[in-house]
Amino acid sequence: MQLPDFTEFEPFRELRLAMGARKTGHFELFNAEKHLTGKERSELDQQGRQLPLARLKRFADHTWGLKNTRLVVYLENAGDYHLAQCPVTDAWSASQTVWISTRRTGGLPVGPQQEQQREVCAHCLQLLGYKGFDLQRNRKIAYSKNLVKTFSREEFFRIYTLYPVQGMAEKLAENE
Ligand SMILES: [Zn+2]
Repeated sequence: MQLPDFTEFEPFRELRLAMGARKTGHFELFNAEKHLTGKERSELDQQGRQLPLARLKRFADHTWGLKNTRLVVYLENAGDYHLAQCPVTDAWSASQTVWISTRRTGGLPVGPQQEQQREVCAHCLQLLGYKGFDLQRNRKIAYSKNLVKTFSREEFFRIYTLYPVQGMAEKLAENE
């Protein structure tokens, strides 16, 4: 397919001049619908954010996302934190307000200067089969319980890249 050449398209050329960008390469493609802004990213890391569950993306690899970023998802008051669309999160209603964050180490933020220590949800690790996690096989129970205790989000988000989520994983799971 032949795409039109917009480099000489007059309104764009004028816009480039108005922006002080002499070459087309000076444009940074940034789509705020798809990419988190720097402000959003620091907010997610520093203080977390509250959204109804329905606003989150369900990536095809079962992780949760906002735009093209994976997330940690948790409730205000208690419980483990979630990395995937496990049976626990599936039981929540679409209007359920959840906390989301991208913080890789330590406690999870619930607003500015507040954080909570949480454990990772075993159902999430089971669903993802994370590092061979399997509480349903006898010979793997001790190993899997230990994996929960020693779990590192930093390592998890190296395997399931925090940002940007691309390709197959970005495909959304079918919403029931
Ligand atoms: Zn979970």
